[in-house]
Amino acid sequence: MALRNVVVEGDPVLRKTCRPVDEVTDRIRGILDDMLETMKASYGVGIAAPQVGIMRRMFIAIPDPENDPDGAVYMINPEIIEKSGSQFNEEGCLSVPGLVGTVERPEYIKIKGLDYDGTERTLEFEGFGAIVMSHEYDHLDGILYIDKATDIHEAVYEEEEEE
Ligand code: ZN
Repeated sequence: MALRNVVVEGDPVLRKTCRPVDEVTDRIRGILDDMLETMKASYGVGIAAPQVGIMRRMFIAIPDPENDPDGAVYMINPEIIEKSGSQFNEEGCLSVPGLVGTVERPEYIKIKGLDYDGTERTLEFEGFGAIVMSHEYDHLDGILYIDKATDIHEAVYEEEEEE
């Protein structure tokens, strides 16, 4: 595993639509391993491939960091098949360092994708899990939380969790 540089806002890479992963190979898993290490090194709870300059549809998220800080979910070629409700929460992003802002997200999300082994599965998330899945999914279409956020301001706490 190796740390990768996190692409920051202003780089056009973050504004592109990512292409699907053709096959979950060892090369893809190697990138995912690097993404996990990079996310952890930055105290993040989510990271999408374009954030390390890889234009492929995949991300990693920790849907319940309070109770299961190591419970990383891998999503390759994800597809949101259902969402409902609404919630407003403050978000940050590893690619937008130092800032946070309030974003509206679905309260519930059902998402289908391939896992680390290339197996397809459908997962459901509520609350924070739905936020992080929605945030990371947006990255794959070149959308950043700051596009949706109101009241963007400097983060107060240095170690605030960022996605
Ligand atoms: Zn982000």
